[in-house]
Amino acid sequence: MFCVRCGRDGPTYDSLCAVCFVKNNKLTAVPEYVDVPQCAHCDEFQIERRWYKFNSVEEAVREAAVRSVTSRKGTRIEGVETGVSRQDSKNFLVEIDVKVKYLDLTVDEHLDTVVRLKGGVCPRCSKIQGSYYESIIQVRTRGRKFPDEEKDHILEEIESKVDLLSRSSRDIFISKVEEMPGGFDVYLSSTSLGRSLSKDLADTYGAEIKESSSLLGQKDGKEIYRVTYLVRLPSYTMGDIIVQKDRPYLIGGIGSRGTRLIDLWTHESMNIDNADLRSVHVVGNMKDALEAVVLTENEKEVQVLDPRNFKPVEIKKAQPSKRKSESVRVFPFEGELLILPAWRQKEG
Ligand SMILES: [Zn+2]
Ligand SMILES: [Zn+2]
Repeated sequence: MFCVRCGRDGPTYDSLCAVCFVKNNKLTAVPEYVDVPQCAHCDEFQIERRWYKFNSVEEAVREAAVRSVTSRKGTRIEGVETGVSRQDSKNFLVEIDVKVKYLDLTVDEHLDTVVRLKGGVCPRCSKIQGSYYESIIQVRTRGRKFPDEEKDHILEEIESKVDLLSRSSRDIFISKVEEMPGGFDVYLSSTSLGRSLSKDLADTYGAEIKESSSLLGQKDGKEIYRVTYLVRLPSYTMGDIIVQKDRPYLIGGIGSRGTRLIDLWTHESMNIDNADLRSVHVVGNMKDALEAVVLTENEKEVQVLDPRNFKPVEIKKAQPSKRKSESVRVFPFEGELLILPAWRQKEG
């Protein structure tokens, strides 16, 4: 085969020898300018219709420039090297060295383009700005005050879970939090988010969930419902001392399936369905326990100094035990003292 341009004999590419082909053909190209919108609120960058987080502006600029490289049909880009230089606050010159393969030829080409940063607002931030939401979690308590520190703690848990989930999905966010009489409302971007967060609260605190929904509109031919999850925290929390059917119990564990009660007369523990504890009466907490000095002790009974009036009083042990101690933790209940079981208050 002969080159139609220089007449050289040998392999040809589109009727040209390798030298003439490379001289007359550019295998790769970039646009003169590449515009990259940057969200004014979250600083993410839009490249080819999608939004991404980058560690630096330069990284975003580099990515946008590289992705704008096109190449002739039948070629394969084997390597790209870039150099970014900032021209001013919004414009970056990107020089790109491309190694491209076409048939059995490997060609090095040099390209340059200017990446221009543009203002913008990503769809997620525009939804947040417009307070868009598909579900609400209403967190309330049952028959008791909702202390600020408990509120803050639960809200922080919700926020950190949403933060974690939002790293893998742009559709997950909190659009607003509202303080309400008796609790707070969290407005969420999606129904599935509301469902999973309220289930988490049920699992952790034995909360009861009531769900209600209203039609929001249609999206892609499907009906969209706005769902409200009323999360009712139980009247008791961990370490509370409650009375159920005239018997005192300690709340030893709380879960979605049930609550662990420790009978304060026998120190036996049992699991009770959360629904059966909706009307319990809280009479105190482990934190209110008093330290009582032990005077004498045998397997079945212990004589202590009542810490309220320093009079000796005999208490039957819940479980026969030979173990001797210098003091016991007691809780006054209906004129008697109850010995409380060993207890480790979980922090946090
Ligand atoms: Zn030639
Ligand atoms: Zn944004």
